[in-house]
Amino acid sequence: MLELKNPSLLRKQSYIDGQWLDADSGKTFDVINPATGEVIASIADLGAAETRKAIEAADKAWPAWRNATVKERAKIMRRWFDLIVANADDLAKILTAEQGKPLSESKTEILYGANYIEWFSEEAKRVYGDVIAPPSNDKRIVVIKQSVGVTCSITPWNFPSAMIARKMAPALAAGCPFVAKPASETPLSALALGALAEEAGIPAGVFNVVAGKSAREIGEEMTSNPLVRKFTFTGSTAVGKQLQAQCAETIKKTSLELGGNAPFIVFDDADIDAAVKGAIICKYRNAGQTCVCANRIFVQEGVYDEFAKKFTAATNALKMGNGAEEGTEVGPLISSKAVKGVQELVDDALKKGAKAIAEGGPSSLGECFYAPTILSGADDTMRLFKEEIFGPVAPLFKFSTEEEAIRLANDTEFGLASYFYSRDIGRIWRVSEGLEYGMVGINEGIVSNEMAPFGGVKQSGIGREGSKYGLDDYLEIKYLCMGGI
Ligand code: ADP
Repeated sequence: MLELKNPSLLRKQSYIDGQWLDADSGKTFDVINPATGEVIASIADLGAAETRKAIEAADKAWPAWRNATVKERAKIMRRWFDLIVANADDLAKILTAEQGKPLSESKTEILYGANYIEWFSEEAKRVYGDVIAPPSNDKRIVVIKQSVGVTCSITPWNFPSAMIARKMAPALAAGCPFVAKPASETPLSALALGALAEEAGIPAGVFNVVAGKSAREIGEEMTSNPLVRKFTFTGSTAVGKQLQAQCAETIKKTSLELGGNAPFIVFDDADIDAAVKGAIICKYRNAGQTCVCANRIFVQEGVYDEFAKKFTAATNALKMGNGAEEGTEVGPLISSKAVKGVQELVDDALKKGAKAIAEGGPSSLGECFYAPTILSGADDTMRLFKEEIFGPVAPLFKFSTEEEAIRLANDTEFGLASYFYSRDIGRIWRVSEGLEYGMVGINEGIVSNEMAPFGGVKQSGIGREGSKYGLDDYLEIKYLCMGGI
């Protein structure tokens, strides 16, 4: 049983127009703890009709919310931020129960998400227009920025709280009401955010959470309803493409944060201990289930053996277990299906000549557990060179030259995060500019925070979350041509 200081955070109904609602059908679905297989709660299973209701409520709430002064919006958002911080321990417990990650990582995620609410509540005050030189003296050109309108989101299970916060915070700050559909594996964190939104005084209809088992049905309503002006998605590239195509019919603005295939490059001149430390956090955070996790680790031949040895020792020292237990560093994967998928990639690599130097694999801890694994001698014929592993498996690739490293790193349709370790200033500039990625970690294994622009290029997505650029995704530019002067 989940023991919470504030039990009202555990919600089983959806939050629409300031009210907690069951499904029209009366149906429910179970949320399962991946570490134990236990049912945490049975949740109202909503569909298209209730989604429509939420969208209509958001549309109704839009004029008052966009016309509130930025100071008013900022004040309410700040209250929401404070409440999330005050309830962070309970929110972390809920997150670990439904998602599996270690409690300390869950707490980090809750505070990380909250930071976006704080940041955008402040940043909303800094939306600037423009006055542009006119082509003739009888005119003036003025540019203003306004909220895009009703925004809907679909988010994945790997960051059940922060992925919503990262989208909702700039939307609300800009004046856009919001309808969130969390992943059906992890709706509880989203509903808890709804409970705190209500307590913070976010007006009815401005923030809504629709939980349901059929993502397709809810997604179809969100992407086809003409009242929705903006659709924002984090998830796989395949589903993102499909949703983008659905949005084309009504030309919605879209932001997409899709798959990654992050290279993590260690050059001969790197600080190897720092690179090992960076690789551990970058690879095994959330048991390897993040879109910015190191997917391919490229190590230059002069330091390959040293890096492999130290990285293997650090990997073997990681403690795997139930995320709710003290000291756990690697939790379960989200499902037994995920374990099977990871194993298929490992089998393919082993068949093609890779060698397991940290022999992890499926674990006796439970059907969702997969122990950290390192594969040496990986190459570009293996599936894991092209595909996102989404599990605690680290393939090591040996390379000779800087040019080869950049070529291999860019040999993918993805372009989200990339990382490299070097102490040479010339190389740092050359490689940073050569990597076709939205983000580059230089001597850093973690790059994301609310003050920086998170996002990808190529098939990793469109738009940026966080930073001063993050508001642009939720603002329209309007040009006022003032004549007769
Ligand atoms: P992941 O592998 O991270 O689960 P997905 O892209 O499959 O990535 O899922 C991300 C989110 O998209 C989840 O909330 C999921 O429920 C939702 N989703 C999956 N398929 C569809 C679909 N056809 N339409 C709308 N949402 C979908």
